[in-house]
Amino acid sequence: MRSFRYSLPATDLIFGKGSLEYLGTELRKIGKKALLVTGKKSMKRLGFLKKSCDSLEKAGLEVVHYGEVVPNPTVEVVDKGTERAIDNGCDVVVGLGGGSAIDTAKNIAIATGHFEGEKISIWEFAGVHDKPRQITSKSLPVVAIASTSGSGSHVSRFAVVTNQKTREKTGIMSPFICPKLSIVDIDILSCMPPSLTAETGFDALTHLMECFVSKKANPITDFTCLKAVKLIFDYLPQAYNRGDDMEAREAMALADTFAGWALVTSRPVLPHALSHPLSAFYPEISHGIALGALTPGIMQFNIDRGDEQVVSKYCQIARMGGEKVTSCSKKEALKSVKAVQELLEKIELDITLKDLGVKEDSFEDMIESAFTTMKGPIEANPVPVTREDILNLYSKSM
Ligand code: NDP
Ligand code: MN
Repeated sequence: MRSFRYSLPATDLIFGKGSLEYLGTELRKIGKKALLVTGKKSMKRLGFLKKSCDSLEKAGLEVVHYGEVVPNPTVEVVDKGTERAIDNGCDVVVGLGGGSAIDTAKNIAIATGHFEGEKISIWEFAGVHDKPRQITSKSLPVVAIASTSGSGSHVSRFAVVTNQKTREKTGIMSPFICPKLSIVDIDILSCMPPSLTAETGFDALTHLMECFVSKKANPITDFTCLKAVKLIFDYLPQAYNRGDDMEAREAMALADTFAGWALVTSRPVLPHALSHPLSAFYPEISHGIALGALTPGIMQFNIDRGDEQVVSKYCQIARMGGEKVTSCSKKEALKSVKAVQELLEKIELDITLKDLGVKEDSFEDMIESAFTTMKGPIEANPVPVTREDILNLYSKSM
């Protein structure tokens, strides 16, 4: 076995049905005045915003609500939230929602913590610059309450943000935004409608498969990713068809948590590298849908070009997807693509880029954006990729 380095994730995780009730008592150990970050509708409509506020206020905390997060959150949304946190003197940021609300909470925590009297924007910290502003321990503590099982953001060090002006979607990374406390309450997750279950569940599957085949993989992620890939193949169709199936929801939430940890200790590869520019140029295309359109073609490409070790990894994924794999060959490895395609059909996510309204004349700009914003995942791909390969992969997904 080759040597490796592994940092244990630093999040205190409370997992289970009804766990939102612990929010107030646990948060009291972290701060006094919380900025509670949510999207515009779902958490209010479903009553979880009120439940969270009640729990916090009962524990003696002050709460300021910021409910303007949009899917694929923008720099403007983060900067406005930062102003709200600064104006109100908040000392902890809570994200209640999916990856979008949790990532926005993390980004607000960075910008607010580094405020020194001058106007501040989260974009100053983005890795797309030659010299981005350093993220330090001044960042406010973050608490995450997950309402989807897909981004793994509740246990990760990443926060994604989109700059609509430059059409760049990028991940900001720092150990200081890894949530101190994370609550995974199955009651919240079971409210996801089928389409959201499908898109977020497929996102989690790609995190696991990508971190498993990644050049940055290690024996610990290999072990957990494979186990969690099987959980998703086994339970995602069930969660999609029966939203109130608690066993399926729990399995998906667990797989998403493993995936979040894998993102921290390994690294995603090409599907994520190519899906972010897609959402940056077509903001209406959700992250999970973009991944559904791109992943099978990229798996084929990696198997086709991969060495024995890469092929063996895809054979193992095929087995987790229920395929019978007798030997380790490229032909057998392609059964992993079949398993993924069948899963996409079951959850009605077998869509092409053309179906999504993507135009071929945006490919060149998207490729440019991939090389500036997603260099890490491109380099971590198990086989080398050129601009021409990426053009072919986008074209193949039409
Ligand atoms: P979002 O947070 O974008 O939520 C999508 C939609 O679902 C929103 O309209 C939201 O409504 C609604 N919603 C959320 N939870 C529920 C629920 N329980 N019941 C009903 N409706 C609900 O979805 P994702 O979790 O997929 O997050 C995607 C974002 O996360 C992307 O920006 C992606 O790039 C990022 N991401 C981050 C990663 C990280 O490591 N930080 C990794 C992977 C992805 P409303 O807005 O009204 O609340
Ligand atoms: Mn993702």
